[in-house]
Amino acid sequence: MGVEVCPKCNSPLNAPIVTGSGKKMQSCSAGQWNPETRETTGCDYIKWLVPDPEKLDEKCPKCGADLVLAVTRFGKKMKKCSTSGWDKATKTVTGCDYIEWINGTTEPLPGEDCPRCGNPLVLYTTANGKRMKKCSTAGWDKEAKKPTGCEYVEWLRG
Ligand SMILES: [Zn+2]
Ligand SMILES: [Zn+2]
Ligand SMILES: [Zn+2]
Repeated sequence: MGVEVCPKCNSPLNAPIVTGSGKKMQSCSAGQWNPETRETTGCDYIKWLVPDPEKLDEKCPKCGADLVLAVTRFGKKMKKCSTSGWDKATKTVTGCDYIEWINGTTEPLPGEDCPRCGNPLVLYTTANGKRMKKCSTAGWDKEAKKPTGCEYVEWLRG
């Protein structure tokens, strides 16, 4: 792989760097970030490096193609169909539009009971890796957009 050049000004791109939020990007060597004015001087081309989606050993329930694991820019995870794409010209999804958001996992916590209502607690891990204990009676009413059941939650640090 040779040196990549900027599509805007044809200068070589800088080596990829990882931003504070863990994203990878390459900036144009003809551009300079000025921390005082918080602006880029020169060429402002930036190429975001998106990791390749991970292939899953699962098939799309809609069309039977392979599913891939994709992570959004906000760190949310989803399974989507490998045949899906994005048509930049028409701004529409092409191919299969199957998407399954991964919202986290729930594990039982044997022997731990909710201090509010006495029902068993469960360990819930969110999609971005935060963990909390919550009451097993807790749920979400999609139609009313309201939590249902007991609202006890205890976030775990670290
Ligand atoms: Zn450039
Ligand atoms: Zn599909
Ligand atoms: Zn409870």
